[in-house]
Amino acid sequence: MFTSSVVIVGGGASGALTAIHLLRLARASRTSVTVTLLDEHGRHGLGQAYSTSDPHHLLNTRADRMSALDGEPRHLLDWARGEGLDIGPAGFLARGLYGRYLRDTLAAAQEPPVRVLRRVTAKAVGLDGEHAVRLADGRSVEADAVVLALGNRSPAPMPGVGAHPRYVADPWAADALDRIGDGAPVLVLGTGLTMVDVALTVTRAHPGTVVHALSRRALLPRRHLAEPAAPVAVAVPGGPVRVADLLAVARRAVRRGGGDWQGVVEGLRPQARALWQAMDLDERRVFLRRVARYWEIHRHRVPPASADAIAELRATGRLRLLRGGLIEAAPAGDGLRIRADLDGAATDLNVGWLVNATGPGADVTADPFLARLIGAGTARPDPFRLGLDASPDGAVLDAAGRPGERLFALGPLLRGTLYETTAVPEIRAQAAALAPHLLRAATSRAVA
Ligand SMILES: Cc1cc2nc3c(=O)[nH]c(=O)nc-3n(C[C@H](O)[C@H](O)[C@H](O)COP(=O)(O)OP(=O)(O)OC[C@H]3O[C@@H](n4cnc5c(N)ncnc54)[C@H](O)[C@@H]3O)c2cc1C
Repeated sequence: MFTSSVVIVGGGASGALTAIHLLRLARASRTSVTVTLLDEHGRHGLGQAYSTSDPHHLLNTRADRMSALDGEPRHLLDWARGEGLDIGPAGFLARGLYGRYLRDTLAAAQEPPVRVLRRVTAKAVGLDGEHAVRLADGRSVEADAVVLALGNRSPAPMPGVGAHPRYVADPWAADALDRIGDGAPVLVLGTGLTMVDVALTVTRAHPGTVVHALSRRALLPRRHLAEPAAPVAVAVPGGPVRVADLLAVARRAVRRGGGDWQGVVEGLRPQARALWQAMDLDERRVFLRRVARYWEIHRHRVPPASADAIAELRATGRLRLLRGGLIEAAPAGDGLRIRADLDGAATDLNVGWLVNATGPGADVTADPFLARLIGAGTARPDPFRLGLDASPDGAVLDAAGRPGERLFALGPLLRGTLYETTAVPEIRAQAAALAPHLLRAATSRAVA
């Protein structure tokens, strides 16, 4: 009997959800398959978001939306009950616990020796022809089909302090925040969800720590309501979408609902992918420049407990929001000197720590693996270079725009193609849709 081999590059939630759906489909169709889940950092089933061990880092999505299984919304809640956890459908689980859930679900999906999951800790650096993934240590893994689940790219390098011991380039790297417990002031670049987590951790680690959070607009993510908002139907006219029209429709819906913007966001969210694809490139550019940041803070909201803790930190002066841009950062004594443009005035700030929470780097070609694929013509960037160009079902497009028969992608890497593609509900649907394509691609080669 042939056993086909699927290699998934990236072991975070996107890779894990793909492996889970693929193994379950293989079981249902009595197909043998070996799935190799490659993760550079050994964070299989956890990735960047769910490897935190801080119990105050909560999911920003309610438990009833976070099942790993497409079509089984109660799966996470049943797992939590089995673990003796006190969490209801509208509750927010700690992210570290969610990582444990993903790992358990991954382990349960395999049935050795016919449906095998191999977890390999290694960095993929290229493809050898169509049928092997090359690893940084010189080995290669045979593959009948390959999935790229690389997640978000690292933030862009910071000139001047890149190698400074008190500069934290990646707050999600293992133990990155554990070092910040000396009470020295911390400057966080960015005021989004990652800043919220950093502020919660470092202020708990030392009662004297003050956090300064800097971003161009100093916008904080909004708070979830105690009970979920019911989605409000928002009728967007068909045909090509203009950002100005979309905003007008959304504002009208908010006014009609007496200011209930949360319901309008929930109503728009399922349409987001279709709306993005109905915009031409100029409109997408307008959206990214003018609207995206506002959409993000309303769409990715913080749980009430985190919002309360942030409000308390601000009220007691331990979290200060700064609106402006970084001019430069330089070593100074034991820490760093930051020069920032705050509302038009150049201002100096001496801090003990600098944490980069600005989110993914700007250009997909900064990732050497992806740059190699693009250089070889196997893949091409999307028009905004946020990720890779792909067909709507995740087949990676080559330099000529042809969909690859054995190369697929999902998750944040498809941001330029789908836009709403970074949260578990969207990734789970992509993983479920991808599984039959993968099984077909893998078995067609094994049989040939
Ligand atoms: C702090 C935080 C909180 C979040 N909270 C939520 C939430 O509550 N709900 C929700 O729905 N979404 C949340 N998200 C969104 C999140 O993007 C998704 O839920 C999901 O975790 C994305 O997983 P991923 O596998 O695509 O990416 P990642 O988690 O980044 O995983 C990608 C993995 O690929 C590996 N990798 C990269 N390149 C290579 C290579 N060349 N070779 C081998 N391995 C490689 C990396 O080491 C990494 O482990 C959160 C995101 C963050 C950052």
